[in-house]
Amino acid sequence: MSAVMVVHGGAWAIPHDLAEASVDGVKVAACEGFSVLQRGGSALDAVEAAVRALEDNTVFDAGHGAVLNADGEVELDAIIMDGRTLASGAVSSVNNIANPVSLARAVMEKTAHVLLTSRGANLFAESIGMATVPGDTLVTENERKAWRKNKNFATEVMEDFNCQWAHDTVGAVAVDSAGNVACATSTGGIRNKMVGRVGDSSIIGAGGYADNLIGAVSCTGHGESILKVTLARLILSHIEQGKSLADASQLSLQYMGDRVRGAGGAIAVSPSGQWAATFTTERMAWSAVDHDGLWYGLDPNERLKEQLSQ
Ligand code: ASP
Repeated sequence: MSAVMVVHGGAWAIPHDLAEASVDGVKVAACEGFSVLQRGGSALDAVEAAVRALEDNTVFDAGHGAVLNADGEVELDAIIMDGRTLASGAVSSVNNIANPVSLARAVMEKTAHVLLTSRGANLFAESIGMATVPGDTLVTENERKAWRKNKNFATEVMEDFNCQWAHDTVGAVAVDSAGNVACATSTGGIRNKMVGRVGDSSIIGAGGYADNLIGAVSCTGHGESILKVTLARLILSHIEQGKSLADASQLSLQYMGDRVRGAGGAIAVSPSGQWAATFTTERMAWSAVDHDGLWYGLDPNERLKEQLSQ
């Protein structure tokens, strides 16, 4: 069985000045995750490593580089899920953790719960000795400027998401050489969101889902729409019923567009090593590594390939 790693850097109208950095960022993260798989690591280890790389890259709206809420603060959401056991861990509205995906993994492995939010999540981080950082250190100068410029347009921003205002949430799915699948998703959400707003990314079945019997999915796009159609699980339901990964993703995104007028994107892998990267927004930065090489794209129908450097 050959291992596969797929990552996304968010679905939206990525502006030209961020295009190259977004594509470079997803390629690096996909290679990072794949190298974990090559060293015999599990799919779970690989998705955590890939998402950590994306959280550390300020180009993306996750961890360092996250967008700001209406009060000018970061509030981060993340999920991780292990397809072997359906174990899942998530955090929402955390503001002092550089790598929320690792805190989500700790919730999964060290508590009896699936999701910890806000103060409780921060207290849990302290209790397990996870390093905390002042929230301000996660904010980039560019984001601070963008927030100042747009802070009076919160409502419009939320309604205009489908056109251009979405940001680059990150996610990863992987299958390891034993056929185990996993997913992880991490985000700062939507710029100027209400304080306390939680989107899809940390919600099991919406922002991500992984089941060894079917596959793994990580989503991006308009969180409120993704929540309404439970996008990750919807995609997996279509796969369960025999659709290909690409058709299942396309059908589900189409349904979200028709039913609740939401746009977005998703990446998926199956236990047998098939994979897909699909979106209905203008762009989505994505990259995959399989036995054939390194794949990547940004615009619709773009599917470029490079040999893997050894
Ligand atoms: N889904 C994320 C959210 O609504 C945003 C995104 O994917 O860009 O929080």
